[in-house]
Amino acid sequence: MRFSSAMPGVAWPAIPGPRGVMRLALLHQLSETQWWSAEQLRAYQLEQLNALLGHARAHSAYMARVLSALPSTLSEDDWLSLPVLRRDAVQTFKDQIRCSVVPAAHGKRHAVFSSGSTGKPVATEQTDLSQLFWEVLTLREHLWHRRDFSGKLASLRHYPADVALPASGGQGPNWGSATADLVQTGPVAMLSVSASMQEQLAWLRRENPDYLLTHPTVLGELLDAIEAGHSLGDARLREVRTISESLTEGLRTRCQAILGVPLTDIYSARETGYLALQCPDHPHYHVQAEGVRVEVLDDHDRPCAPGEIGRVVVTPLHNFAFPLLRYDIGDYAEVGAPCACGRGLPVLTRILGRQRNMLTFPDGRKTWPILNFRSLNGIVPVRQLRMTQLTPEHIQVELVTPVRPDAALQDRLAELIRHNLGHAFVLSFLYPDHIARSAGGKFEDFVSLVH
Ligand SMILES: [Zn+2]
Repeated sequence: MRFSSAMPGVAWPAIPGPRGVMRLALLHQLSETQWWSAEQLRAYQLEQLNALLGHARAHSAYMARVLSALPSTLSEDDWLSLPVLRRDAVQTFKDQIRCSVVPAAHGKRHAVFSSGSTGKPVATEQTDLSQLFWEVLTLREHLWHRRDFSGKLASLRHYPADVALPASGGQGPNWGSATADLVQTGPVAMLSVSASMQEQLAWLRRENPDYLLTHPTVLGELLDAIEAGHSLGDARLREVRTISESLTEGLRTRCQAILGVPLTDIYSARETGYLALQCPDHPHYHVQAEGVRVEVLDDHDRPCAPGEIGRVVVTPLHNFAFPLLRYDIGDYAEVGAPCACGRGLPVLTRILGRQRNMLTFPDGRKTWPILNFRSLNGIVPVRQLRMTQLTPEHIQVELVTPVRPDAALQDRLAELIRHNLGHAFVLSFLYPDHIARSAGGKFEDFVSLVH
């Protein structure tokens, strides 16, 4: 790592500016705390949570009410009696949750909008301090995955409407705010996912990056195109990083097989920051316990054991502007056993997406659907596919394919889909030219409207 110096006349060893020094101070501690035991991490977390709760009690009308029946300093048992905060409560009571006062040293307040996949945005606030933790955990992620900071980063993702438009995209001198003014890096090239596949491929060949940051569904489509005979040319690519959506089945294996590089996934959310980062040595995730408490709870709000799947409930430790205490973020995850790498940071084996991505059987049972899109490709070329469960018996299948299937092929598709889903659902097929992403840039391949 080559540091940038802000001190006049000093090139080496570098003395960064005040914000760079804060990032380094935190990074230094994080290099130690990652090896702490789970118990020690929880104890220090609880101390920080009590500091946050003290502030929330004094300055958030909503949290003062929620906390009124609890002692002034919470134990771990008290913590479990704190009610879970639902997304619709954040929407309804946002003005009462918002703190009237924030310590001046936490910096400016910033509005944060999480569009979510339900079309009901959640508006919260963060401070410069939240941003500092975002930057430090970004640096940790780079270090964990041993990146060469001199490399070129390409970011192919959802951008606001008029940013990084095709065909040229955008350029930047540095990987972003985490590294800017602290670590010297190679440049970044940016392209909006509104670009066509031809534009994406041409851009990747032209930019020839060392690292690609994108969404899992975008990577899946790129891999399809390369398998269909398109090429990235003589690529320098070393690693693909994915964000914002849950990983589709088999994507890691396909990335390694087709591009010859590993996939590193990141679990974060706009309103909470980083939740979990992929272990440097294993394909599962470590909760970022120094920045956030993550609980995985069952249907009775009890903590799940390793191997169990439950709802992800999140408390950012340092957001004093808009305290999200035990916030049900709407995702499901599987709890993992302690990691063999030796880090005490809790393990999530996989992130499963949202309840609306679960399939409901006519008898009321819910499951994560096995879509196995790849198997459909043996019948017709699948460019895009989305299934929408309209009723407990009825699923709509939207299929983008250059070859409109005849009745016999459609029957074969239907038979395979019913086999994959595990029930003889009524299927209706639509053949649009394109399936658009949601306003927040996410693509969901299975959505259920059954509640
Ligand atoms: Zn690990």
